[in-house]
Amino acid sequence: MIIKKSRDEIARMARAGAVVARMHEALIEALRPGMSTLDLDRIAEDVAVRSGAVPSFKGYRGFPATLCTSRNHEIVHGIPSADVVLEEGDVISIDAGAIVEGYHGDSATTLVVGGLDAVAPEVATLVRATRNALWRGLEQVQHGRRLGDVGAAIEAVAHEQGYGVVREYVGHGIGRALHEDPSVPNYGRRGRGMKLTRGWVIAVEPMFNLGTEATRTLDDGWTVVTADGAVSAHWEHTVAITEDGPWVLTARSDEPAHPLSEPVPTW
Ligand code: MG
Ligand code: MG
Repeated sequence: MIIKKSRDEIARMARAGAVVARMHEALIEALRPGMSTLDLDRIAEDVAVRSGAVPSFKGYRGFPATLCTSRNHEIVHGIPSADVVLEEGDVISIDAGAIVEGYHGDSATTLVVGGLDAVAPEVATLVRATRNALWRGLEQVQHGRRLGDVGAAIEAVAHEQGYGVVREYVGHGIGRALHEDPSVPNYGRRGRGMKLTRGWVIAVEPMFNLGTEATRTLDDGWTVVTADGAVSAHWEHTVAITEDGPWVLTARSDEPAHPLSEPVPTW
């Protein structure tokens, strides 16, 4: 069942989204070689708590941390650890969520330690293309469009580059629960699937692999990795369908919150 949100609820979700954006901004600012993924987790938790928010993921089905930190061939759901010390050239996906006034925001960023020049050009292109695909998908999140329009727009970017599109993990509705209906796949056919409706709030989150789409889960029960060991990237935003088009509730200060009326950069 899809739970539509009122204007007032979307305004509350925007406050949650703003906290998530600040968590990412603090992490981007802080990231450097020698930090552990647990250091990142502490920074993000501190921002959430100081903002009066509650981290979404900590305790979710027993997940132990504020962030999911997934490095190199890890796709999603990596657990922050003092033992995972980041080096220049590591590709690190950081997924953060926060609850404000009972509503969740959810957003993920993939960064390269030392900057995009610190990795092979094909890895930098993967990170950029996954981010571009997220925005191609977000632009489709409009009343009257269909879920297949979102998935097809994302998948087209991956196909252009020959990437594997992760199929086992997808975007989702979001609200009082972190994961609500509908599922929002990163693949699909234009004009197919459920009709998007004003008042929906969804998380769009492409995951692209430099190799095949196949995944497996590590023995910790959480960390999802590429089956072939190739690098993966993951970007995510929470977006509301309003009368004015998509409102990206988790947009950071360098990103357009209203992608139909503001220029969307090519990342
Ligand atoms: Mg997320
Ligand atoms: Mg999500």
